[in-house]
Amino acid sequence: MISVEEALDRILSRVSVLGDERVPLLAALHRVLGETVTAGLDIPPWPNSSMDGYAVRSADTVGATFERPARLTLGGRVPAGGVAERALRAGEAFRIFTGAPLPEGADSIIPQEDVTADGGTVVIGRLVPPGECVRPRGEDMRAGDSVLERGRVLGPAEIGLLATLGHQPVRVVRRPVVGILSTGDELVDLPGALGPGQIPNSNTYALMAQVLEAGGEPVSLGIARDRLDDIAERLSWGLGCDLLVSSAGVSVGDHDLVKAALGRLGAEQHLWLVDMRPGKPVTFATIPAGAKGALPVFGLPGNPVSAMVTFELFVRPAILRVGGHARLSRPVISARALLPIPNPGRRRGYLRVTVTRGDGGFGARLTGEQGSGILRSMVAADGLAIVPGATTVGRGEDVRVMLLREL
Ligand code: AMP
Ligand code: MG
Repeated sequence: MISVEEALDRILSRVSVLGDERVPLLAALHRVLGETVTAGLDIPPWPNSSMDGYAVRSADTVGATFERPARLTLGGRVPAGGVAERALRAGEAFRIFTGAPLPEGADSIIPQEDVTADGGTVVIGRLVPPGECVRPRGEDMRAGDSVLERGRVLGPAEIGLLATLGHQPVRVVRRPVVGILSTGDELVDLPGALGPGQIPNSNTYALMAQVLEAGGEPVSLGIARDRLDDIAERLSWGLGCDLLVSSAGVSVGDHDLVKAALGRLGAEQHLWLVDMRPGKPVTFATIPAGAKGALPVFGLPGNPVSAMVTFELFVRPAILRVGGHARLSRPVISARALLPIPNPGRRRGYLRVTVTRGDGGFGARLTGEQGSGILRSMVAADGLAIVPGATTVGRGEDVRVMLLREL
């Protein structure tokens, strides 16, 4: 049995980032940037007005006071989207609007509420310092600046910045295609009437949803019956995927055939038993896939909670790595146990807890029964409390919690 950390090392050392694809700007939202973006021009490209007002030469207002104002001749008009017809001359003011280019010859702008406009004369009762209300060329970015690094997750601000640079389409890391296989003679897919001894296949849906949340594209490989050839055949349908995930059939029972099926496909197995609860039997293997290199395959346990938790700990980081993300782990916080949190087994516990935010920090309590078939405990879980084997975190003591969602 190996530690969670060792297992994750073995997995992450065997997966690598996918190639890029080009997508239209808005489709790049929440995707991982696959290129480093350099500004091709200064933004703004020319000095422009930050106010509606009058463009002037600062020198023409030196010494102006309320009592002895400067009187400038209105000589032009520059709307946003236009340009001045000629350069501003000494003794002149040009009407100007927010976003309009500063006319040549002018060096400052006085807001309209600070002047009196009297026919063709603009009366200014104070000094207008050079640069007032002027947004200088390149104040946001300069041509040649590296403005977004490869590997960055694109949010609305990044999309806006790319738009301002006219940078479209955008190179993003391809979304990993993840094949999901459920195994078991007892499983019935939706919508299906359940016969005696049958249960609905829930893992396929929960795992596909987890894949989507991690930025991958899930593909269902359906349900394999507990037969070596069926499992191997359905896994082989997924050889074109970037990752494969199966659930159930990885334990030591007579019907646990996933490892043997992987062996039939020539897979090399890198781990099996991991020191954790829920979850212990987890397989990670790679199938040789010709020019594509090796295809990573996870054999997760079948119990719905075990499948989801092992996905969290092992598959999600792998999808994120393959998808180009720099940050692979969930946030881990320290919380106070609001009630005792026992972990009776010898393995390290990843126990479902609800987390509350109080004055003194975070508080955590078990969601209830921790059975690995109890999906409602997963629904209630804000995070997984990480508790060493054979340990009870006493009420009031601190416990580390891996957060599964925003609080
Ligand atoms: P196994 O690892 O095959 O022994 O399965 C462990 C438990 O998980 C059994 O109770 C299975 O019925 C259940 N199980 C396996 N696969 C699924 C699935 N796709 N959806 C819901 N439960 C499952
Ligand atoms: Mg089974």
